[in-house]
Amino acid sequence: MAKDYYGILGVRRDASADDIKRAYRKLARQYHPDVNPDPAAQEKFKDINAAYEVLSDPRKREIVDLGGDPLAPTGGGPGAGAGPFVGFQDIMDAFFGTASARGPRPRTRPGADAILRLDLDLHETAFGVEAPITVDTAVLCSTCTGAGTAAGTHLATCEVCGGRGEVQSVQRTFLGQVVSSRPCAACGGQGTVIPHPCPTCGGDGRVRTRRTLTVKIPPGVEDGMRIRLAQQGEVGPGGGPPGDLYVEIHERPHDVYSRKADDLHCRVTVPMTAAALGTRLTIKTLDGEEALDVRAGTQPGATLRIRGKGVPHLRGAGRGDLFVHLDVRTPTRLDAEQERVLREFAKARGEEVAELTKQGGFFSRMRDAFNGHA
Ligand code: ZN
Repeated sequence: MAKDYYGILGVRRDASADDIKRAYRKLARQYHPDVNPDPAAQEKFKDINAAYEVLSDPRKREIVDLGGDPLAPTGGGPGAGAGPFVGFQDIMDAFFGTASARGPRPRTRPGADAILRLDLDLHETAFGVEAPITVDTAVLCSTCTGAGTAAGTHLATCEVCGGRGEVQSVQRTFLGQVVSSRPCAACGGQGTVIPHPCPTCGGDGRVRTRRTLTVKIPPGVEDGMRIRLAQQGEVGPGGGPPGDLYVEIHERPHDVYSRKADDLHCRVTVPMTAAALGTRLTIKTLDGEEALDVRAGTQPGATLRIRGKGVPHLRGAGRGDLFVHLDVRTPTRLDAEQERVLREFAKARGEEVAELTKQGGFFSRMRDAFNGHA
């Protein structure tokens, strides 16, 4: 079976030589054993090199295009038995970009995103709020407006690398002498230095500042959601463009309601008599008080729904519902008169109620019943 060399590099069969080189470099950087110690990556790296060896050589590529495999041991191709091998310079190119991306690193780089936690009550997440937030990030230095240089001074070319941003060293390898480049340590690879740094920011072009912003929270947000404030994150080194600020919503637990998506749930206790006879309750909702009818004969654990009294939907119109879970409370500590009435009631319904004596007579009778069957 011929290997799918195009697939290994992730290029189309009509890829140009440049496309192939670019794909190879990207993959080599990703899977080189020095940067990726995973054994699977080493295998992958071998495959990538083999594919590049084949596809970067027009003669070998032609064999592939005709359905053959120039690297197969029995194929008899030009590279037979030699194993995959790619010139050292190609690997160096992949890492140092010697061919194309040469040159000093930019002094100005984009800033990082920032994240901030915002604690809100249920009312605020439900109906939205404009909340003040205190943001502690790097902002542009107003003294030098990001340049990093003291007033009236300029950047100077780095004397160590001569402005190239990289220094070369000669290494002895199995290929002989190989010249490799690394970023200049004196200027951090930037090719320039700041002889007189801005006294405010020390040359960084940015300073840390605490400021207050107002963030507009839309109705219906949920715990864990993030609101993005574009370009309110960290300003980058050298006064680079700021990242974004994410405000992460945390909803404080509510005393009465628990929230499931946009529905709210609460528990209300009603006396047994009210559940039996039916009653009208006054329920506090997010919007105010609401009358709720409990029908006669309502059972313990029944759930009543008040439509549209939940949390507004974040997207689209409408709201969730409010679910009222009823706990029916059985009366305790009946006085003599209450007990008498209740027994009358039981009798009227034909419900036999065994009488519990103070000596635990009920239990002893139960035991006798069980023993009788044993
Ligand atoms: Zn400054």
